[in-house]
This record gives sequence, C-alpha cells and structure tokens, in this order.
Amino acid sequence: MNRETGEHRHPLYEELAAIVGEEHVSDREIDRYAYIRTPSWVLGRVPGLVVKPADAQQVSEIMKLANRTKTPVIPRGGGASLGGFPLSDEVERSILIDLARLNRILFIDHENMVVGAECGVSLSHLSTEVGKKKLHIHTVDIPQYADSLGGVLSGFNGGGCPSDYATTGEAFHFLLGLEVVLPSGEILTTGAGSGTNIKQAQAADRTPGSPDMTGMFVGDAGVFGIKTKAYLKLYPRAASLAYGAFAFEDFEAMKAVFWKLMETDPLYYTRLVAIKPQWRDTWSLFYVIRDAEELVRFKADRLAALCTEGGGEKVTNELARKIISSFSGRQLGKSYASRGKFLYFEHPMKKGEAVDYFLRQEAFLDRRFKEAGVEGLITDRVRYLVPKERHMILVGDLVFWDVTTLSAEQVERLARISHEEAEHVLENGGFLEQHQGLETRISASYWSEAYRAFMKSIKKALDPNHILNPGLWRL
Ligand SMILES: Cc1cc2nc3c(=O)[nH]c(=O)nc-3n(C[C@H](O)[C@H](O)[C@H](O)COP(=O)(O)OP(=O)(O)OC[C@H]3O[C@@H](n4cnc5c(N)ncnc54)[C@H](O)[C@@H]3O)c2cc1C
Repeated sequence: MNRETGEHRHPLYEELAAIVGEEHVSDREIDRYAYIRTPSWVLGRVPGLVVKPADAQQVSEIMKLANRTKTPVIPRGGGASLGGFPLSDEVERSILIDLARLNRILFIDHENMVVGAECGVSLSHLSTEVGKKKLHIHTVDIPQYADSLGGVLSGFNGGGCPSDYATTGEAFHFLLGLEVVLPSGEILTTGAGSGTNIKQAQAADRTPGSPDMTGMFVGDAGVFGIKTKAYLKLYPRAASLAYGAFAFEDFEAMKAVFWKLMETDPLYYTRLVAIKPQWRDTWSLFYVIRDAEELVRFKADRLAALCTEGGGEKVTNELARKIISSFSGRQLGKSYASRGKFLYFEHPMKKGEAVDYFLRQEAFLDRRFKEAGVEGLITDRVRYLVPKERHMILVGDLVFWDVTTLSAEQVERLARISHEEAEHVLENGGFLEQHQGLETRISASYWSEAYRAFMKSIKKALDPNHILNPGLWRL
C-alpha cells in the first residue's frame, strides 16, 4: 500500500524506482488506466505498474528483476495495437514497459545508406529526420504519428505496409538488424554486425556470417524479446510524383487491368489501390508513382494505356483525391479513438484466391451486420484490394460507425463480428495482419501441431519463466 495515496503498491515498485528513478515509475491507478486505451474494440486490462526505462541497459535490469520474481512484462510502443492491450491473465502483478523514452536516432549514415534508431522512436519523427537529408525509410502509412519503430516491427504482419511511399512491401525487407533484450535480460545484437562479427560496429546486413535470426523477432508480437534498437536501409527520396485514378463500370474489367499491372517489370506504380467507397457506384484504380521525373512520365503513360485499353476512364485529380481519402489516414486518424469507431477487415490472401475471398467476405459481413441490426448505422464503408508485392493481395473492407449512436449491446455485437470475421478469413486459408493482442490467439489456433510445438520450444528456451507478453500466440 502506498502510504501517501492509500492506493495499491506494486511489490517491485522500490526496486524498479532504483533502476529508472522515481519519476519514471508509477503504480498509481490514474497512470495505469491510461494504458488500456487502444484503437481496438477489445478492452484492455489495467497493468499493475508502468515503468519508463531510458535505455537498453535499464530494460535489461528490469527483465532480470522480472525473471527472478517471475513477474509478467508487457512492452508497449505507441499503443496503436488493433488487437487490444494488454492481455496478461496476471495483469495485477504485471509490469508494463513504456518504451517512449527510447526515442533517439543514433545515426543517419548516408554513405552506407543505413539509419540506426532506438525502438521507441515514432515513425513520423524518424521519417522526418531522414527526409531532411533527402533520404527515405520504409514506414507504415497511416499511424506514423503513433506507431513506434519497435511496435510496428513486433505487432504487424511483416512489420508494416505504407501506402504511397517510394518503397513497397513490408518493413522486414528493409530491416538490417536489431538490438533485442531477451527475457533473461541478456542484450543481443542480431544481423551481420556486432552480433556475428565483433569487429563490425553495427548491423550491416541480415545474413552474412549467420542464419537470419533477425527475422524471428519480426512480427513476434514481442514474445521473444524487447527490441531496443533497429538498423534500417535508407533510400534516396524520389524526386517526382504522379497520382490519379481510372474508373471502371465493370468489376471484372477492373480486375483484368489490376492483374496486368501487377505483372509488369518494372511495376508502373509505387502504390495501387482498387477501391470502392460507399458513395460511388463504380470501382476505381487509384495509383501513385514516385520516381525520377522522366521515369514517372514513362510509367504514368504506360499505366494509362493499360487502363484505357481495359475500359477505364480517367477521373479528375480532384475526384481521385476524394476517392482515396475515404480510405486515407485523415479519415482513420479522426477515428483513432478508444473502442473503435471503425472496423477494419484487411487480410493478406494469395493473389489467385483474393477476389473470390473478397466477395465471400463482403457477403459474410453484410449478413452479420443485418443480423446485429447495425447495417443502417454504418456511416461509411470502403472496399479495397491492394497488391502486396506480386504474389499476395490485401483484401479490405473498412467500416465506420458513429459510436455515440450505438448501444453498449451493439458495440459488443460489433466486437464479436470482428472476431467471427477473423475466424472466417482463417477458415478460408487467409491470414491476419495483426500480430498483437487477441488476434495472435485467433491466428495460433490455426497453427499445425508441428508448428505449435516448434514455437513453444523456442519460447521455452528463451523465456523459461514465461514472463514476456504471456497469453499471446497461445504459447
Ligand atoms: C488507425 C490505424 C491505421 C493503421 N494503418 C496501418 C497501415 O497503413 N500500415 C501498417 O502497417 N499498419 C497499420 N496499422 C497498424 C499498426 O501499424 C500496428 O498496430 C503497430 O503494431 C502499432 O505500433 P505501436 O508502436 O503502436 O505498437 P503497440 O500497440 O504499442 O504494440 C503492439 C505489439 O507489439 C509489442 N511491442 C511494442 N513495442 C515493442 C518492442 N519495442 N519490442 C517488442 N515488442 C514490442 C507489444 O507488446 C504489442 O504486442 C494501423 C493502426 C491504426 C490504429
């Protein structure tokens, strides 16, 4: 019991205060409650204590203490988890590590095209600083302002996808190595660098000198270690940009063009979105091209020729902007509130199965919304398909509500629909993007026995006391 406030006192409060300083640890209710807030429809649980270390060394000391006392630990970056937070069953005893103070950019090495940063840094800050040097790093699109580097590398399929940047694909392609604090408190550097050649100061690549052990920490939801530093590839910032959209009366015609565009080499787009907002009757192909000026012109001409031959009609740039902003960060940003406001059904599917699945998913959601009596309350709905490199497609349906018009029971029904839909996608051979919260449990229930045993054995070797992010992945 805290003598000053009469509130509960976490048993490790004094020892943690000795590691990080009193001002960076709190077991007061008001501070702990702040951490249940996420944009997810899953309500979080209140952690037992919140601690804000300054560096990897302090994270390591916290982990050693937690290990000795078998105390659950939950790392947290920006808190933009779409799967709820935290989930530990022993939440009263738990320590939530807020990584916000690990926010330093270590270096921007133009000659070697590498940037090193601490993992609590926000992606927007990192991207802005790199941009000042006319360079680019791969980040996510929408929640750049909230997402931390460590949170996106841990909590999203492959580490995050941006929408219209000069690089496409997931962040793990752009990651060279990590510094990770293991559940034991050991500090490890992965990647060809100081981990696998002690004569090399920092991570220079993923595989020379070792298997790719960086990858095992990508999308792990933070169950194998706490990421404290990451080293990423840098790219030149593209000099020129073009964007626009073509509207198609016929879905099949749009699909044929979409498929052709995914097969060209080089790709004529940096970003391609097949999109149908609720307020439009037709599908549109929206594109962004970022490259050197003459290449942008070349790609834009070729893309336009394919679209026109395939029955597409160019819309004005003003309309193109309006179409894409039904899906964009501004709309989602406005909705980034506790307990939803939007439900987001986006899944990676094999290209050849994506459209069939998309149509089944749409019918499934229509039926469920009708049964729940909420279909008339939808304020906006955006259907979309986005290439994830050449072999997969993100199949999406983004649905908005004004939560103030929903009853508590309707909110619960919607949260349930979200989970039923996750089962639906897995039943149909797809995957969940979120590697965080409840979604890890749903995904893991579709793992093969062999895969589960393999994952459990890794977890047991690294975390025998099962203290780091317990409850995730059913480990
Ligand atoms: C409105 C909205 C739009 C989005 N759009 C996109 C998008 O366009 N593209 C995209 O890729 N993603 C998108 N996302 C998803 C977002 O990128 C992920 O939820 C991401 O994981 C959030 O990062 P965070 O720092 O907030 O992580 P948190 O929510 O803090 O944590 C997520 C998980 O990672 C673990 N974790 C956090 N930091 C660490 C660390 N340093 N070491 C180990 N484990 C850690 C946590 O324990 C938790 O399990 C969107 C999310 C929202 C809310």
